[in-house]
Order: sequence, then C-alpha cells, then structure tokens
Amino acid sequence: MRNDRKLIRGGHILTLDPDIGEVAKGDLLIEGSRIVAVGPRLDVTDAEIVDASGKIVMPGLVDTHRHVWQTVLRNIAADWTLNQYFAGVRGVLGRHFSPDDIYAGNRAGAYEALMSGVTTTLDWSHNMNSPAHADMAVAGLKATGGRFLMCYGNSNDEWLPVNGTPISEDARRVRLEHFSSDDQLVTMGMALRGPQYATPEATLQDWAIARDLDVPITVHVGDGAWGKNRPVAWLKERGLLGPRVICAHCNSLAHDEFQMMADCGCKAAMTPEIEMQMGHGWPATTQLCKVGIRPGLGVDIVTSNGGNLFQTMRTVLLVERAVANEAADRRGAIVERLPIDTVDVLKMATIYGAETLGMESRIGTLTPGKEADIILIDTDNLEMSPMNNPVGAVVLAAHPGLVDSVFVGGRALKRHGKPVGFDQAAVIREVDAARDRVLQKAGVEPGGRFMPDNYVAA
Ligand SMILES: [Zn+2]
Repeated sequence: MRNDRKLIRGGHILTLDPDIGEVAKGDLLIEGSRIVAVGPRLDVTDAEIVDASGKIVMPGLVDTHRHVWQTVLRNIAADWTLNQYFAGVRGVLGRHFSPDDIYAGNRAGAYEALMSGVTTTLDWSHNMNSPAHADMAVAGLKATGGRFLMCYGNSNDEWLPVNGTPISEDARRVRLEHFSSDDQLVTMGMALRGPQYATPEATLQDWAIARDLDVPITVHVGDGAWGKNRPVAWLKERGLLGPRVICAHCNSLAHDEFQMMADCGCKAAMTPEIEMQMGHGWPATTQLCKVGIRPGLGVDIVTSNGGNLFQTMRTVLLVERAVANEAADRRGAIVERLPIDTVDVLKMATIYGAETLGMESRIGTLTPGKEADIILIDTDNLEMSPMNNPVGAVVLAAHPGLVDSVFVGGRALKRHGKPVGFDQAAVIREVDAARDRVLQKAGVEPGGRFMPDNYVAA
C-alpha cells in the first residue's frame, strides 16, 4: 500500500465542481496533498481506506473574515453594541495581551475553526502590539496544520479611529521571516484600516507597504454609520482598489460603490451575525450579487457569536428570505420563489470564499488537481436522517458536532469526531489561562458582567 494515498470510499460527495456535480455513493482518491480522482467507483487497491458510508463528503469551509486572537475573549461582548465593543475590547482589554496570550488565542481559535469544518480562514490579525506579538500570532496558526491567510494588521492603539499612525514597518520583517513562499499552508496578507479608521496619509502609507510586500489586502468598509463616508469611492479615486482587495462587510456603502468594487474586481466578505448585532446594516448579499460579486462569509468575532460557519450560512440565508418575504407582504403579494437557495449559500462558504481569498485554483471544490481540503459530515443520526436533500441538510441542519473528519492538504486533523495529533484539553487550558491573565491585568471581573460605556471618537 502506498502510504501517501487515501481513498475516501462510499460517501455522498458534494464536489461543488460544476462539471462533476454530486456523486451519490462515490469515491475520492487523495495522493499526497492533492485530490487525484473523484468518481462513482474507483478501482484502487493500494491506498488507506477512509470509510465514508453514511457521510457527506464536501470541500472544507472557507472563512473570509475572522479576528482569531479574540478567541481569548469568547462571548464577552455577547450583549454589547459596536461602540461598547470598541470601548471594551480596544479601550480596555486589547493592550493587555502578551505575545503568549496572542499565541494561545490563535491556536485555540484556529483549532476551533478546523474542528468545525473550516479548513481555511482569513485571520484579520489586528493586535500586533510588538514584533513578538506578530511572531506568536503566526506561530499559533502554524502550530495547527490548518490553512490560513494571516493578514497583518495594526496594534491595539492604532485601531481607535481616526488614527494617523501608519502600520508598522515590522510587516516587512514578518513577510521575509515567516512567509518566504506563497504556497505554504499559512500565507500572508495585510489587514488595513482604510479611510474609515485611519487618516488619509496613514491609509496611503499602509497601502504602499502592502503593495511592496505583494500580498492580498483586506479592509473594513461600509460597516454602519462610519461606513457612509464613501470609503470605496475614496479608495477608487486613488487607484487603491483591485482584484486582490477584499472588502469586509459593505453593508452601508452607497449604491454606486458596489459597481466601483465590481469594476475593479474587488472581493467581498460578509459576516451577517455581527453585522446585524452591531448595527453595520443588513447583509449586502443582494447588492453584491447584483453587480456580479460572489461574496464569501465570515464569523468575524467570537467575542459575540459562535465560531462555526454553519450558523453563518443559515443566518445569511434566512435574512435574505425574510427581507424578500417582508417586501412582498408590504405589496400585498406572496414571494413566488425564494430569492436565494441553499446551494448559493454553500458556494459562499466554499468556492466563493476561495475566490475571495484568491485561492480558487487550489481549494473550494473537490476537483482533481486541487489540494485535499475535505470534510466528512455524519448523516447517520437523528438530525440528518432521512436524507432527502444533502445540500439543504448541510446548510440548515448540520453543526460542528456532526463534522466527523477534517483533512487539510490530505492530512487528517479530525477523524471519527475526535481531534487528531493534538491535545484538545491542553489547548483549552492554555487559552483559559490567557483569559485569566488578560482580565486580571485589565481589572475586569470574570463572569460576564463587564458592560463598558460606549466609545466616543475623539
Ligand atoms: Zn472585522
């Protein structure tokens, strides 16, 4: 038997590849890190067999916007507004993170994503308070074996708007030291504040560094009241948009700014749960799709919501349907056909997410030649049986507890519902200890009663 070959046998395969489609009772062959064949019955004898009977086999999910370091502060902002979040996370807690706390948060958050079936995450890493913080942010992700686009952002104090300090030149060292190659599992991007949160001069300098480093850029635009200052138009006028710019949120952008994004080939990341909780606005699904942008999805922050993309898929689907139903009701009519299908949402969480990150040639579908980032979802249970609509079941009924197996680049990180190759209890102990240290240094009482006043911009 060749020990670099795995045959995933007898599963219901959702390839998300338009030419292959769904394969009922299908096989998928992995060689090394890549998928080499998908079909109804593959005649392979020299491979390790992964039994997928009673399982859905599909591409790993892709999260296009998550601040992984905030895992240390899980659910602390459950009942906070956006301005309380700025005051609490930035004004009080962020500066008390040591490099070890960043490592603990990134490692635990990365594993959380992976165990829930998210094989690739854009980490919007914006608590880079020193070079050691940056090193530990990278190390925490690399420790897990998952696929990440680590986007280097600002320090804690540089986030409070409107800030005039450009992003640290240390980004250049990080690129050289940690990201010499662009095809490793963890690659580099830049997380820039943009014209809502930084001064024009700082924004121009931030962009200049990112362009020097030749990496993708992600920026928050169109989130709530601050997003109404035409940030996309401002960037376009200065030639700063392009196909490697990922715009997060987009809720409150002006109508013409969506067309500008499309004209420049920009990508978009929506995080519907946080956008609705914190007043960013309704998810921009319809406006983005109208101009031909295929958005990705993101969890954003686990300081408020949970860390898996199943709930995000459901949220974006149900909001879009509720808005359409409500609009029809106001006209005294009934919706003839729902405006968005479960398959549309599943594409957002897989192939559109891969496109958003510029990784569609490597991940996002189960296509021979692509990296073997694959998840198996158990269907032999009361939540998923009887199986009448596999895509519908994944979007509307599945949850992290049903994720049986996770492979990244052909390597198993979860099998039979259990972590592989790491001690989950130790990871949890480490992030608990980081939480204790940060809260203690900040003088914040544990237990969920911390309710900061609203931040007021200077
Ligand atoms: Zn964000």
